[in-house]
Amino acid sequence: MDACIFCKIASGGAKATIVHESPDFLAFEDIHPQAPVHTLLVPREHLPTLNDLRPEHAPLLGRMVLAARDIARSRGIAERGYRLLANCNADGGQAVFHLHFHLLGGRPLGAKLCS
Ligand code: 5GP
Ligand code: ZN
Repeated sequence: MDACIFCKIASGGAKATIVHESPDFLAFEDIHPQAPVHTLLVPREHLPTLNDLRPEHAPLLGRMVLAARDIARSRGIAERGYRLLANCNADGGQAVFHLHFHLLGGRPLGAKLCS
């Protein structure tokens, strides 16, 4: 996907502050951080949304969640807490159509939207 900014970052064709690299995903700092820690976890495969996931992606997703946990620990926010989320399509507020998880923390994140 030549036009996709996250594909460009994953291939080294666009700059980002990369904090983790694995064969099938990477993590880099959000360009407009919403919290002191705001890291994006992104599969190297161009999957537009959560809706495009297939069963074979389950191990990848597990590794991404564990990496998010490890980044939270290394950034010192694990004990106070953090949020890991993915927005999907219009109602979910998705702006970049290459699947990604946001790791947010380092300040109280406010009201829960899911309860
Ligand atoms: P979404 O709303 O799709 O869940 O979130 C997209 C996120 O990607 C936003 O938080 C936005 O700041 C971030 N973002 C958009 N373009 C770039 C970019 O070129 N580089 C980085 N590092 N983050 C980006
Ligand atoms: Zn992409």
